Amino acid sequence: MQYNDAAEVVWYVWKHYQHLLSGLEIRVDKAILAREKASAVNNPNLAKRLEKDLGFVLDEEVNKALADGPESFRRRVCQRLLSAEAASIAINRCPQCGRVTRAPRAKQCFCSVVIGMPRPPNKPLS
Ligand SMILES: [Zn+2]
Repeated sequence: MQYNDAAEVVWYVWKHYQHLLSGLEIRVDKAILAREKASAVNNPNLAKRLEKDLGFVLDEEVNKALADGPESFRRRVCQRLLSAEAASIAINRCPQCGRVTRAPRAKQCFCSVVIGMPRPPNKPLS
């Protein structure tokens, strides 16, 4: 799978900085999960209950936030957080390849570079 930096940044911020979400953004996040779960269950009654009880289907603010779909919503929230909460967010990138790591304190990259460890001198890149 090809690396998509913008998508990785959204995933990273979404996964590691949920404590910075607003009340509405938390409701929308819960609604996304409940609606996804409801669409995945085979029991129509259970699906209806999940959507009604946990999916915020009657919440106009939630529905408006999800008008363009969950991915678009998450992208907008990440853009907001990266500008409004820039001082609180540190994106951990590999010094070798520049990719976003899996976690803020990750010590190893997908390219197998150990972050924070200098490369041994005179060792050629393989
Ligand atoms: Zn790397």
